[in-house]
Amino acid sequence: MNNVNQAILEIRQILGERLSTAQIVREHHGKDQTWNPGQPPDAVAYALSTEEVQTIVQICARHKAPIIPFGTGTSLEGHFTAPHGGICIDVSGMNQILEVNSEDLDCRVQAGVTRKQLNTYLRDKGLFFPIDPGADASLGGMTATRASGTNAVRYGTMRENVMGVTAVLANGEIVRMGTRARKSSAGYDLTRLMVGSEGTLGVITEVGIKLYGIPESIRAGVCAFPTVEACCNTAIQVIQMGIPIARIELVDAEHIIAINAYSKLTMVVQPTLFVEFHGTDAATHEQANMFADIASEFGAGPIEWATQEEDRAKLWQARHDAFWATKAIKPGKEESIATDVCVPISRLAECVVETQKDLEQNNIYGPIIGHVGDGNFHVVLFCDRSDAAEVKRVKAVYERLIKRALAMGGTCTGEHGIGSGKREYLALEHGNGLDVMRSIKAALDPLNIMNPGKNAAP
Ligand SMILES: Cc1cc2nc3c(=O)[nH]c(=O)nc-3n(C[C@H](O)[C@H](O)[C@H](O)COP(=O)(O)OP(=O)(O)OC[C@H]3O[C@@H](n4cnc5c(N)ncnc54)[C@H](O)[C@@H]3O)c2cc1C
Repeated sequence: MNNVNQAILEIRQILGERLSTAQIVREHHGKDQTWNPGQPPDAVAYALSTEEVQTIVQICARHKAPIIPFGTGTSLEGHFTAPHGGICIDVSGMNQILEVNSEDLDCRVQAGVTRKQLNTYLRDKGLFFPIDPGADASLGGMTATRASGTNAVRYGTMRENVMGVTAVLANGEIVRMGTRARKSSAGYDLTRLMVGSEGTLGVITEVGIKLYGIPESIRAGVCAFPTVEACCNTAIQVIQMGIPIARIELVDAEHIIAINAYSKLTMVVQPTLFVEFHGTDAATHEQANMFADIASEFGAGPIEWATQEEDRAKLWQARHDAFWATKAIKPGKEESIATDVCVPISRLAECVVETQKDLEQNNIYGPIIGHVGDGNFHVVLFCDRSDAAEVKRVKAVYERLIKRALAMGGTCTGEHGIGSGKREYLALEHGNGLDVMRSIKAALDPLNIMNPGKNAAP
């Protein structure tokens, strides 16, 4: 039996007003933006240091109270709901940039630092951190979900960019994992174990990450195509030819309609690739020309280049706001599932085209957008929960999409993670690998207090 109430009393003695049981605060910490059911925690503890997190975890462990770590709450798979109640540890106040080592191109931050905060801080130093989920997520949350975004095709995901973490484990121990060395063969890779652990193995309090020099030349543009398939085939060829493209994003015609309305743009309503090249002036020119040649083979129109920095920023902001844009255009169908399958690049066009057919045949509004250079795409499935027949059709399309990706050697989630929403697909993807995950979980958290009911956690 757990004793959450006793845990709340003891944590309040330490945090005072930074422990909240207010309904509105609990609800904000218990429901994401999708149709995954929400469940508020019993209380929200706003921690400010690793030691404070340790004390909270020790109290919760003593009373067997569930712990749900929380960064900025932008995850999309019911990651931070509290199906068994418990204490949400919100680390957003842990927002100090602890060190920047410009010469080594790395830095260490507290887990609550957000990606935009970090990049604003780094700009004057000529450095940047490339991983950019559409939302302004925390580095701790991005580590915990193994996030990526539009730049992953060139710079990798959090998996490639986290060098080390400090975490408080379920037994209250503080463990520093990883080093600042670019590579290491010392022991098991505990850092990688925490990357993607979704709060089920510990609370990450600090993150060490790689940084990059802001490129001398950045060339960005948009290019309309006759079909989504042509966009995918262009992306496939760009990757197969080894063009070091920094961003290559598919935005289908439905998304263009929504983005034009939401971001007040006038893009041609056709399937479109948003692209960007990084390097020296000569290199970006060469890459852009090679891209243009491939694109024209697949029937693309002229590329519209965003020459000014502010035009480029506007373009990518519009891309990042696509999720809100589609939500705004379908007010009657606000329930959405943000799917994110990822397949080997050679199967991308086939997977997208089959999915499009499935959507059409089932009369479902499911605009497609994707980080296609990685073989990763989102079908934003909308449905009206009060329409049982539509819910059934949407669920069936969703399930077929995941099975299609798995059959092609892909994954059910390229970047959003498992949370509570995709748990049933873990076994399908990993087979008895899931048993290994559960053994790790049981060894590190025998009481199952760290974010229970999520990912591989029982
Ligand atoms: C509009 C929009 C666009 C998006 N686009 C992308 C995209 O392109 N790519 C992508 O990868 N994602 C995308 N996302 C998803 C989202 O931004 C990521 O999942 C993000 O990485 C979560 O970070 P967070 O700080 O919001 O974490 P939260 O949502 O607060 O938490 C997410 C999970 O991580 C755990 N967690 C959080 N902080 C910690 C910590 N300090 N220690 C241990 N566990 C922790 C939580 O318990 C939870 O399980 C998008 C979301 C939105 C709303």
